[in-house]
Amino acid sequence: MVNGHPLFVTIFILGAIVFFTGLILRLFIYWRGQWDLWAFLKGVFLTLFSVKILNIIKVFFLDGILQRRLFGQDQLRWLMKVLIMIGYPGILIAGHLKVETMDQFARFPHVIKFFYAPFCDFYFFRDVSSPSLGLIDALFAISFDLFGAMILMGELIAIYRRFVAKAVIFKTSVGDIVAVNLLGGWFILRFFCETTSILTYSLPDSVAQYWFLSFTLSKIVSPLGLPWASLNYPLWSLSGFFLATLVGFIPYNKKLWHIITIPVVMFINLMPKEAFKPGAKKTPIPLSIKELIALDSCVKCGSCVDVCPVYEQTQQLETTMGGIFTNIKSFIRNAYGLPGIFYGFTKTKDVPKEYSEHPYLCTLCGRCTIVCPAFIDTKELRIAARGFMVEKGKYPHIIDQLAETLNKFYNILGEPNEDRPMWVQALEDLPEHMFQRERAKTVYFVGCVASYFPMTKRIPQSFVQILNKAGVDFTILGGEEWCCGFPLIAAGMEKKAEALIQHNLEKVKEKGAERIIFACPSCYHIWMEQCKADIEIFHSTQFIKKLIDEGKVSFKERKMKVTYHDPCDLGRTSGIYEAPREILKAIPGVELVEMEGNKEQCKCCGGGGDLEMLRPDLSAALAQAKIEEIKATGADMVVTACQQCIRTILTTARRKKIPITVMDITEFVLKNMDGG
Ligand code: SF4
Ligand code: SF4
Repeated sequence: MVNGHPLFVTIFILGAIVFFTGLILRLFIYWRGQWDLWAFLKGVFLTLFSVKILNIIKVFFLDGILQRRLFGQDQLRWLMKVLIMIGYPGILIAGHLKVETMDQFARFPHVIKFFYAPFCDFYFFRDVSSPSLGLIDALFAISFDLFGAMILMGELIAIYRRFVAKAVIFKTSVGDIVAVNLLGGWFILRFFCETTSILTYSLPDSVAQYWFLSFTLSKIVSPLGLPWASLNYPLWSLSGFFLATLVGFIPYNKKLWHIITIPVVMFINLMPKEAFKPGAKKTPIPLSIKELIALDSCVKCGSCVDVCPVYEQTQQLETTMGGIFTNIKSFIRNAYGLPGIFYGFTKTKDVPKEYSEHPYLCTLCGRCTIVCPAFIDTKELRIAARGFMVEKGKYPHIIDQLAETLNKFYNILGEPNEDRPMWVQALEDLPEHMFQRERAKTVYFVGCVASYFPMTKRIPQSFVQILNKAGVDFTILGGEEWCCGFPLIAAGMEKKAEALIQHNLEKVKEKGAERIIFACPSCYHIWMEQCKADIEIFHSTQFIKKLIDEGKVSFKERKMKVTYHDPCDLGRTSGIYEAPREILKAIPGVELVEMEGNKEQCKCCGGGGDLEMLRPDLSAALAQAKIEEIKATGADMVVTACQQCIRTILTTARRKKIPITVMDITEFVLKNMDGG
């Protein structure tokens, strides 16, 4: 007994103190990030009291407890997670409910009851006098052993995966081994504690049988004739030590800490973007609270590695999401946490040079986002990591050239910007206004790649003809159009993109437009994210589908087999999968065959995320893998809906002399339109 409390409770309280100290240290790091208290609190309030909260409950149940994301990926891992996700909360809730029903604790305040809850059976076994159990007590007993058995099974699967099947991609750290042992060790000890209590107090079978595991164990070990009464209290105290160490270790270990952060990440993912706007003051860590918490949630589980097309080519773990996040967060902890304070920032503030290129070896395809069991928006966080490296001055300096080019020429190629609409000159029957009107209801935003690259000029040339034939009142911005800002945002230089975005918005407003259409998914995505004005935003596929539905576009018969490649920014980023497929299905005779990876699972062509600028070889390797996947379908051609996908796939196919027909959906539609 210490201060009237048994040793196991006292140790548990000490563990809780260590936990709160660690929690404060974690919060201290979050506090040093970018945030605006009022915007953050407003965001929390608006999310809590909105219908979004119903969504979070649904997501928490389906994805948090039932691990929906893992089911299709790895069923053994899914089983392990589900067992642990149900077992842990189950046993904790059961313990806390039971302590509330026990007379022994009636006079204790709730906070003290909390510390007795994991040990309530020590008292129950000691004081039980009846030869049988009431229904409620029997249910508590069964549930303790049932939830405990689930946790143990989950732990056994974890050990099997890690040490026997070696199904874990990232290295196992000492901290991970300690965490797994503490998680499993407490429950194993708990069964032994229950067993010794059953034997110490010679509980009748009619009572003990409900703790079915401990009861069975008691039958097995009873013939050993050990001094059960002398072992009982020390064993319960040892279980208290395990539990205290487990709880105290939570904020210091990524495997355990994510138990706390994952529900938080699920919640903040639903909060409005404005809640995370930076405050007025410059903060030591150039990342928002949301980004810092998301970084902390990565458990290096490797799900993102399994699906990454870049990793498939490079086999470099340090460039994957798990690798990047681990490196950056350990740097942040050292530089801005306790080591930084004790040893001084000068010793810890420099990001290792070798980290500088890693965040950029990624196409931002988002394939990893849909599988991340920690619900991290990996793509968004990767861009934030790039921004972090830019702030630290450790990034590939080719990015500076891009920024300079855009600053000077307003297009990614460094061509005279007034030459943007030169593609119109190849069109026959060109109207006098050359599609550049003073005012129009619709603006077609062409984008840099389609404006300048010869192999993609067919996209705007086709799209303006479709709009013209359908009688749409539209204009292009011509030389007044500037880059949408996506390449800079993707590079981690969001601030430098602001002027470009603002300029484009003003020019669209000057036209008196009610809607804007993009054939480029990246431009479309940037406008969807950044445009606050009251204007309808369409991707070309959505608009063509609308024209078909309105009877303004119809098709002649075309017998052919096509496959469709989902551009990352149109599919995974913007959720547009059906519009292009419905267009293809509307053309009589066209048979759509899907690639092995389609819709959410579609593999990137290699053209995204500024990768091509940095590592053209890697980008080409991804394009080649894509071409092989396309060829495997046996389709006559691949149709897509992105200028960059067309360029990436066609460039590699031409270089490697692979015969393949690649067409943007606008061109395919025009070719097959009635009267086209
Ligand atoms: S980013 Fe997500 S999927 Fe990748 S290792 Fe971290 S937790 Fe796992
Ligand atoms: S976004 Fe795509 S390329 Fe980048 S890490 Fe994720 S899966 Fe790999």
